[in-house]
Amino acid sequence: MTSSQGSTGEIPGVYARLGVKPIINAGSWLTALGGSLMAPEVLRAMQEASTAFVELRALQTAAGEVLARACGAEVGFVTGGAAASNVLMAAACMTGDDPAKIDRLPDSSGMKNEVVLFNGHRNHYDSNYEIAGATIVPWGFAGNGKPYQLEEAITERTCAMAWITAPFMKHPMPFSEAAGIAHDNGVPVIVDAAAEVPPPENLTRFISEGADMVGYSGGKGIGGPQGTGLLVGRRDLVEAAYENHLNSRGTRAGVGRSAKASKEDIVGLVTALQMFTDTDHDAVWAGWRVQAEHIVGRLRDTPGLRVVLEDGDPNRQGPQAVIYFERGWDGPDPDAVRSALRAGDPAIHVGAGGYGDEINVVMVNVQSGEERIIADRLEEILSGSD
Ligand SMILES: *Cc1c(COP(=O)(O)O)cnc(C)c1O
Repeated sequence: MTSSQGSTGEIPGVYARLGVKPIINAGSWLTALGGSLMAPEVLRAMQEASTAFVELRALQTAAGEVLARACGAEVGFVTGGAAASNVLMAAACMTGDDPAKIDRLPDSSGMKNEVVLFNGHRNHYDSNYEIAGATIVPWGFAGNGKPYQLEEAITERTCAMAWITAPFMKHPMPFSEAAGIAHDNGVPVIVDAAAEVPPPENLTRFISEGADMVGYSGGKGIGGPQGTGLLVGRRDLVEAAYENHLNSRGTRAGVGRSAKASKEDIVGLVTALQMFTDTDHDAVWAGWRVQAEHIVGRLRDTPGLRVVLEDGDPNRQGPQAVIYFERGWDGPDPDAVRSALRAGDPAIHVGAGGYGDEINVVMVNVQSGEERIIADRLEEILSGSD
């Protein structure tokens, strides 16, 4: 490919002036790849928000009602991302509404400060709990965990049970069962569901199955500003989270101060969330399927490869074109294919393997027509004519 232009034609001037080239993002809602794109309605709402001052607390309360309604929760507010929601949820479970404790974090000595976390749920975002001052107490093994192991991990020092739900993550038992065990032991349950929507049903799922607080990314499948997150749940805990974020006493900036969302962010997320809940998700899904089918159709007959449409696997974010490398394959290995895709112009980023060393082309951020560019490049690379 010789074009020096972005995938959809002109390079937007703001990027051209900085000398940064747009890429094709077939790797999903990854922050490192730009996250997601906002609808014009969201951008317009943000622009409008920027024309007047409001009291942030009043705006958060009103926005929180929209978030809470969408999630079936009591209350909520907008944070600076799902990672920020994790920090605030852990902080809230340690401090409750005690101002002295809120001012003291991340020094959590003398507080209930242990977050119990299934070993198979360990992931690079669990540092978020430690940033707040908590200690992670893992339970079970990486591949399985039993109710008695969870009960043994819970002590009088436990402040929360954390539950992570993400693509390709293994769960030791149904969420509701684990939440029940935590509650029987007097421990609140916090959930990181950052990338679990769509499907839209996951907005209400965790609260209805027993979560006390849940965090989601605003800038992934919901299509809000990249730097936003949702935090929803039980009133007392969410209020404690807010105090750890922007305390109403004007004393020390707390451990969650860096979780800030601006008035524009808040309005943008509310707008995106309302659009998301009104969206015909079946139609969006069908559009992704057509794009994935295009790539599968173009590569299906490559000997040594199994190229298939994966649709309906809850571990995958929407329909994907997946390339499995069979034993007879003697072309470039998956890593070489990925680097060749990244080295092209425009650079193309695809998903890392989920079950093995496969290549998955994730459609959620692939703009209309880009599936052809991806198929062209994959044909060149896989046929060795690159
Ligand atoms: C993406 C992700 C996060 C971070 O979300 P941000 O909104 O980017 O802060 C946290 N946890 C999980 C499981 C994620 O997938």
